[in-house]
Amino acid sequence: MKAEIIAVGTELLLGQIVNTNAQFLSQELAALGIDVYFQTVVGDNPDRIRSAIKTARARADLLVFTGGLGPTQDDLTKDVLAAYLNRGISIDKPSMEKIETLFSSRGIHMVESNIRQAHTIDGAVPLFNEAGLAVGNGLSEDGTHYLLLPGPPREMKPMMEGPGKEWLRSVLGHSDPLYSRLLKFAGIGESNLEAQLIDLIEGQSDPTIAPYAKEGEVAIRVSTKAPTESEANRKIDATVERIKERVGTFLYAQQDATLEEEVVRLLRASRRKLASAESASGGLFAELITSVPGSSGEFTGGVVTYTNEMKHKLLGIPMSQLEGIGAPGAVSESTAAMMAERVRELADSDFGVSVTGVAGPAESEGKPVGLVYLGIAERGKETVVYTTNLSGSRTIIRVRAVKSLLYRLWQALTK
Ligand code: ATP
Repeated sequence: MKAEIIAVGTELLLGQIVNTNAQFLSQELAALGIDVYFQTVVGDNPDRIRSAIKTARARADLLVFTGGLGPTQDDLTKDVLAAYLNRGISIDKPSMEKIETLFSSRGIHMVESNIRQAHTIDGAVPLFNEAGLAVGNGLSEDGTHYLLLPGPPREMKPMMEGPGKEWLRSVLGHSDPLYSRLLKFAGIGESNLEAQLIDLIEGQSDPTIAPYAKEGEVAIRVSTKAPTESEANRKIDATVERIKERVGTFLYAQQDATLEEEVVRLLRASRRKLASAESASGGLFAELITSVPGSSGEFTGGVVTYTNEMKHKLLGIPMSQLEGIGAPGAVSESTAAMMAERVRELADSDFGVSVTGVAGPAESEGKPVGLVYLGIAERGKETVVYTTNLSGSRTIIRVRAVKSLLYRLWQALTK
């Protein structure tokens, strides 16, 4: 079954509201095993709604509309579809009663236009609106199914989840639901990951493997249709194993978890604590770690030692290390090591981490933009410093530096 979502509303085209309904409906339809091939947005204009219906009918078996069921003259979805299918419009009694009761209980005079919200296309199944007044519709003709839902998300969602799905199931017959698992990677770029898995991505049809792009994150989604969850898991597990054989060292979670959440989880599980000393990243590492609820149990604290004076005063790094002829400088492997070690000692924690580098836009100490040192000092172990050469704007370099440090820390915790 191929579906098309048609969101009706000029506000959507003007960019005044975001089409969150399409996102929700795509997810709901996928879970029912229905493939969404197109999402359309059309304004409150009868000719263009009609044309959207015509186009969608030619390429989909199920047309899911949201919006345009309200009381005003620009709410046209039912009128246009009824005319398109040469059907009349009548009043849905339970919806009319709800409208009348509401108006009389509030002592407000009901206007003629409110009756429009009880309109139902002849021959359609009326879908009662628990959270609002406009009744939805489900109808089938010549092998095409039409589902009409209201625009406001707080009305659309319960209608879809309740009577909408019930109607869909009745017309669809049986179809296995779609199950999927998100695999999250760190320490590897999106294109590199794709290159390593390209034959699997292109060759696999069940389960499917699809790259999943999200700002600053590398993930892939493994999906399959199956009658039961355990059957789906069996198929997904087998595919995940094949993926792990190639890029398992970069896979940090098999669910929608962030790297900072995983780091905090691993620290908690091993009852270890962490402290940070940051320069170039200006506290971003501490910000990410503390965004994880309950991280106070694992993160003792962090310092932002931006100037050389503060690196000296707070962390006791000798000025001769930081400046002067022949000094390694603030942006150096040895300074990164000292920062991580000193903050670990200061906080008496198991891990001390550091970030020092050049975020740009200008170079510093004669060192190039993007050169960043990441230090990890672990109690009882030798300190490790990773040298990275990052690209991008100042903001991107800072984010990448911190993500890279989180990845190295995750590696240290999973060793
Ligand atoms: P109403 O009875 O409120 O008129 P309706 O079914 O006619 O309901 P619209 O008039 O199209 O719906 O939209 C009403 C409101 O619902 C919009 O102002 C907007 O806030 C929200 N809305 C509509 N469509 C969407 C959408 N696709 N995604 C998110 N929100 C939407």
